[in-house]
Amino acid sequence: MRHIAVIGSGPAGYYTAEACQKQFGDAVRIDVIDKLPVPYGLIRFGVAPDHQSIKAVAKRYEAVALSDTVRFVGNVMVGRDVSIAELAQLYDAVVLATGAPADRPLDIPGATLGGVFGSAAFVGWYNGHPEFAQLNPAFDAPGAVIIGNGNVALDVTRILAKTPDELAGSDIVAHALAGLAESKIKRITILGRRGPHQIAMTPKELGELGHLARARPMTDPKDFPPDADDALLEPGVRKSVTHLRDFSAPQDGPTPITIEFDFFAMPVALEGDGRVERIIVERTQLDAQLRAVGTGERYAIPCGLVVSCVGYQTPPIEGVPYEHGRGRFANSDGRILPGLYCVGWARRGPSGTIGTNRPDGYLIADHIAADIGTGSRKAGRAGLDALLAERHVDIVTFRDWLTIEAAEVARARAGAPREKFVSVADMIAARG
Ligand SMILES: Cc1cc2nc3c(=O)[nH]c(=O)nc-3n(C[C@H](O)[C@H](O)[C@H](O)COP(=O)(O)OP(=O)(O)OC[C@H]3O[C@@H](n4cnc5c(N)ncnc54)[C@H](O)[C@@H]3O)c2cc1C
Repeated sequence: MRHIAVIGSGPAGYYTAEACQKQFGDAVRIDVIDKLPVPYGLIRFGVAPDHQSIKAVAKRYEAVALSDTVRFVGNVMVGRDVSIAELAQLYDAVVLATGAPADRPLDIPGATLGGVFGSAAFVGWYNGHPEFAQLNPAFDAPGAVIIGNGNVALDVTRILAKTPDELAGSDIVAHALAGLAESKIKRITILGRRGPHQIAMTPKELGELGHLARARPMTDPKDFPPDADDALLEPGVRKSVTHLRDFSAPQDGPTPITIEFDFFAMPVALEGDGRVERIIVERTQLDAQLRAVGTGERYAIPCGLVVSCVGYQTPPIEGVPYEHGRGRFANSDGRILPGLYCVGWARRGPSGTIGTNRPDGYLIADHIAADIGTGSRKAGRAGLDALLAERHVDIVTFRDWLTIEAAEVARARAGAPREKFVSVADMIAARG
């Protein structure tokens, strides 16, 4: 028998479990361990609450989770409740699928002022992540600034811009819906250090901005290169740029909320008395390598909310080699040390879609097959259970999760798929 521990129940964790199941059939036991009592990582806590069809991918993981060879071990944090060294004693292979849940710091003066949030925290707040439920952002100022030119910046912008009616069918949590209903935001500025041709935004997400009930996106035609240059772009980016060009057409009249794309704009400082009141931005231009270089021209944008969507990193875990510059575990093609692997965002860093994690999982299953043979006589899940019982750790099982989920569905407001529990205590209490 082979014993495998996968740390993290997001897409990378479940694709790895699926791949190991296919690889070894009944001759494997896989424990998917998560620090939270609920599974699926960023599918639950990252993917936008108004993108329910994307969240539906979790159903695919349910089939894996319910099989006899795989078990979910929730409410167990590796590094706190059990160490990597202990897991290595118990399992033939330990796979870190812990994602990249920490914000990359916004390294400019004033970044710690009130009203300035990283996107992991802000997105976690509206998606009901227990660690960010108390964030309590204020929406009482007319200006909000979103830093970054990727899809996370678009998600945050869209959630800020939508009306309560537009969010009705989403699973945004009650505290966020209530906070946003009081919003006084009139202008959302999206800052990008480079130009429209350098964005990392996909056409579908950009297109959605053009169909909002009370908000209109705006771009400045002067920011674009000649139309003919779009032909040089990769097709997806070209479609995105077409949307951006469309946003520069004259508007039909005033709208309650304007979404302004401010390209060639590098944040250099945040200012305010305890709470952010303005962001200082430096105009940039591109050098020959397409890097943004400051021009010295500076201006201020008044704002009471700043959300920085500039990337994520993996928190280090004791005993695991770490690549500080890239904010991920040091690995060679997913191998960290003998018997220790990483996968998904913990391996590659924060890039790619949910589906990108699938080949990662299959790669790791191949490595494990090559490295561990038919397995050893390690204790596996029986050993983990004994250790956690000794430490009085309250394991949440996948059946418990299904009960918690049913309770979330039962208490949902009309039209919403569920109303999430946002504290670990409430999640655990809901399993009955
Ligand atoms: C805001 C946002 C929106 C996104 N929207 C989309 C989208 O619309 N479509 C799309 O295709 N992709 C989207 N993505 C990307 C997608 O979510 C990622 O590709 C994917 O979630 C990465 O999977 P992962 O398993 O590596 O990490 P994660 O999904 O982050 O899973 C990591 C898991 O590890 C657990 N964990 C962490 N540390 C420990 C520990 N020490 N002990 C135990 N457990 C631990 C966490 O609780 C979590 O469950 C989005 C990402 C973000 C940030």
